[in-house]
Amino acid sequence: MPAYDATECLRLVVVAALLLFISVQWAPMYSSPYGVRASIISGSQDEDYWQRRAELLNEEQDRSIGARMNLSTAEERAANQFLMQAKYIELEEGQRDARKFLPKQNFLTVGKNVAKSRIFRMIEAMPKGAVLHAHDTAIVSWGWVYTNVTYRPNLYACVPPGFGEPGFPDQIDDNEQLMLRFFKNEPKPIERSGNNPGCNWRLLQELRANDTRSPKAIDRAIMRRLTMIAPKPEEAYPTSDAAWDKFVGIFLFITPLLTYRPVYEDHFYQGLTELYNDNVLYLELRTTLPPLYELDGTQYGPLDLARIYKRVSDKFVEKHPDFIGVKLIYAPLRQCNSSELDEYVSHARELKQALPDFIAGFDLVGQEDKGKPLVDFADRLKSLGQNVQLFFHAGETNWYGTSVDDNLIDAVLLNTKRIGHGYV
Ligand SMILES: [Zn+2]
Repeated sequence: MPAYDATECLRLVVVAALLLFISVQWAPMYSSPYGVRASIISGSQDEDYWQRRAELLNEEQDRSIGARMNLSTAEERAANQFLMQAKYIELEEGQRDARKFLPKQNFLTVGKNVAKSRIFRMIEAMPKGAVLHAHDTAIVSWGWVYTNVTYRPNLYACVPPGFGEPGFPDQIDDNEQLMLRFFKNEPKPIERSGNNPGCNWRLLQELRANDTRSPKAIDRAIMRRLTMIAPKPEEAYPTSDAAWDKFVGIFLFITPLLTYRPVYEDHFYQGLTELYNDNVLYLELRTTLPPLYELDGTQYGPLDLARIYKRVSDKFVEKHPDFIGVKLIYAPLRQCNSSELDEYVSHARELKQALPDFIAGFDLVGQEDKGKPLVDFADRLKSLGQNVQLFFHAGETNWYGTSVDDNLIDAVLLNTKRIGHGYV
């Protein structure tokens, strides 16, 4: 039996001919830069409809980014045309085959291809002005952390008992203990207790030397803990909670590694270098101001660390005079209790007083729907806001109508200077 009978075939031919006629007739007038053609066509329609339609489109266009920018020189117009042409090519390719449209895909699977895109390379080379939303231990590519930091002397790895010995499985699963930290001498093992399976400290350099395979088991385990990239991200992170767990796990893993004072300084300097190479000229960095350590046991608190940040950024600006500089937003974790918040608020005041030009303000960070809503701390934050500018993360979730959702309202009422994310 044929798929269509004769009447059905005739109907399809008529419809196809009609569509062809319409597109040929009207394409020159209604073709958009994206290659989409309008299909509502009639020469005898009410003029008001078309006028109103044009007005609405103009209004929309007027509100879009860059709408009021005047390209005054021929060079600017030519550069714009060059960029837009490349953009339309990617858009049209995406319309033909949505799988090729990278912004539509999970970033974890197409990140490498995004970096190779012509548009991305053009944008990469353009001057950016400022980065106003970045987090301390997340501004450096994980490859640098791996190749530079994990090959330094005095770095110990806490690995499951028996790891590296004959007959022991050659992998460390994500749920097993693995820590990296710098020590002067080998510390005592961490004993098994409760959910903690315990681990033994071993000099990383020795663990590597004793494993002749390629890649070495310890290196595979370290790399897995440094990045969210997974072969099938939708399976690895089926919910936002799962993604947050992995995300927070990376910060927990790198914190003892990076908070060794010489590493922290180099890491920050590397972050500035990577931003500078991307043509960024100014940075406002959110930092929890974690405690730093030296091998001799010396510890540094929030104010010491803010001074370290200032010293390193001054050094960077001295070597790169076209880089405008850095300011800090002190941003401790929002999953805190009342007395911890009091402590944060008092640190914020102290920091602002000691380094008024270097401290831009205060924020709270972490998974928004698991932390306390801003309203719980509103009175204290309002009073802090009189001396220290506020920059809240808010609207990161789609929990519509809950106290988390109200964070946006409180952020605005608290006179936040900017809102991080603002998704809802
Ligand atoms: Zn953020």
